[in-house]
Amino acid sequence: MRIFVSSLFHEGNSFSRLRTGAGSFAITRGEDLLEKAAGSRSSLGGACRALTRLDCQILPGLSAVSPPGGPVENGLFAQLCDEIVAGVRATRPDGVYLDLHGAMITESLDDPEGALIAAIREVAGPETPIAVSLDLHAYVTPAMLDGADLVLACKDNPHTDYDIAGERAATLLVEACQRRIAPVTAAIWLPLIFGAQMETARGPLASLHARRREILAAHPSLLDISICNCTTLVDVPAGDQCITAIADGDASSARSAVEELARMLWQLRDDFVPDFAPLDTVLADIAAGRLPRPAVLGDQGDRVLAGAAGDGTVIMAEIARHWPGLKAVVPVTDPAAVRAAQRVGIGGVFEAAVGGGLSKGVTPFRAEWTVAGLGDGRFIHDGPYLQNEPATLGDTAVIRAGNLTVLATSLPGFTQDPAAFRSQGIDLGAQDLVVAKSGYHFKISFGPIGPCVVVDTPGIANYRPGLLPFTKRRPVYPEDRIPDPRFAAEIFPPRRRSTAA
Ligand SMILES: [Zn+2]
Repeated sequence: MRIFVSSLFHEGNSFSRLRTGAGSFAITRGEDLLEKAAGSRSSLGGACRALTRLDCQILPGLSAVSPPGGPVENGLFAQLCDEIVAGVRATRPDGVYLDLHGAMITESLDDPEGALIAAIREVAGPETPIAVSLDLHAYVTPAMLDGADLVLACKDNPHTDYDIAGERAATLLVEACQRRIAPVTAAIWLPLIFGAQMETARGPLASLHARRREILAAHPSLLDISICNCTTLVDVPAGDQCITAIADGDASSARSAVEELARMLWQLRDDFVPDFAPLDTVLADIAAGRLPRPAVLGDQGDRVLAGAAGDGTVIMAEIARHWPGLKAVVPVTDPAAVRAAQRVGIGGVFEAAVGGGLSKGVTPFRAEWTVAGLGDGRFIHDGPYLQNEPATLGDTAVIRAGNLTVLATSLPGFTQDPAAFRSQGIDLGAQDLVVAKSGYHFKISFGPIGPCVVVDTPGIANYRPGLLPFTKRRPVYPEDRIPDPRFAAEIFPPRRRSTAA
């Protein structure tokens, strides 16, 4: 069996002033893709290992992975999409596997991944099975479920199980190619935005996932149930929570599963209340030794992992004002600071205000900086989240003012991983605290280094009802008062195939 594989990974943020261009994507193709995937904990990695085990020939297309951010440039998306579609056209595979985030947006498309799946369907023909695995923060659309045979998401947040989702999707894909299953999907959408408490092992989602597992165990005909909590920060029509269930042949068990879970989620809708720690308390705890060092702080408002620009300065300003004795490392997206550091070179000194150049309402932080290092920003993910996936921060500079070390990056980057810092020459063990622009995934990747605390900082990634200008994603709770939904699933039937196995 010949299976074409590709990945396209980007989570959109409609409120970012930045556009995501080619520089933000780590792109691999062909043999390099296969080599990367062999050791990767991405969904693509899990899928490739499953396909190898199942004796499939893997036809590698394109893998393009970017941190979350503003809309992807139209021309870039068209180019990536065309390359993947051309690969399917050229190889005429028996099946297609796609590792997609599921919440990409472009300058002009709200559902580029639905468009990509439709374009692949067009060239692959109606009978070639297409399987897609998603990040559970996907914006799942009817276009995706119409175009693909199998769409399923990872189950854990923080995401420890991308590879398991990829493996599951690829395994079901092969069974669909062999005509051993006829996947039918039931889906239900709920108009809800959640700004906090979105982990799956604690809080409101824990009970929902416990019930999901019970239902799956009780119904062997169910192939998957996925609960997608659409990312908070995309403003797209019906950007909703989506629960899907895939059954083999008969939709009834899938329908009743999603309708029950949707009722349950709706009942929980007021439980997603912020529980972030106050910054001043956390810094006082570190200074007093009540938190082991280095403590790792998730900068909730400025999470690049939710598409913010990563140019926030609130934490470094608070440290400078009240705790100048703390040795801290803070990443800041600031291409001008990187260029200034490159001009004076390592050991050189320059005065500049860093941060605040990309987001509204951020006060730049001025200091006299000594350049401790310059780098190209390239690294390979080391922690469990996206392990073995290459990434880039753009050119970087490590600059110091007193006990404060700033990792200035040219691009918003994946700083939820210790490798982002170590690769640029920063010794994390020598610090009292490290800041990651992440609210969930830094907990799994930094867990072995120190206690991980999400701090309540301002910015577009710290959702509070009424503060962001949602226009397309309306009406939606809690931005709007809305009546109880009908809890009626939509059914996406198995594709008609001309031949049986
Ligand atoms: Zn996610």
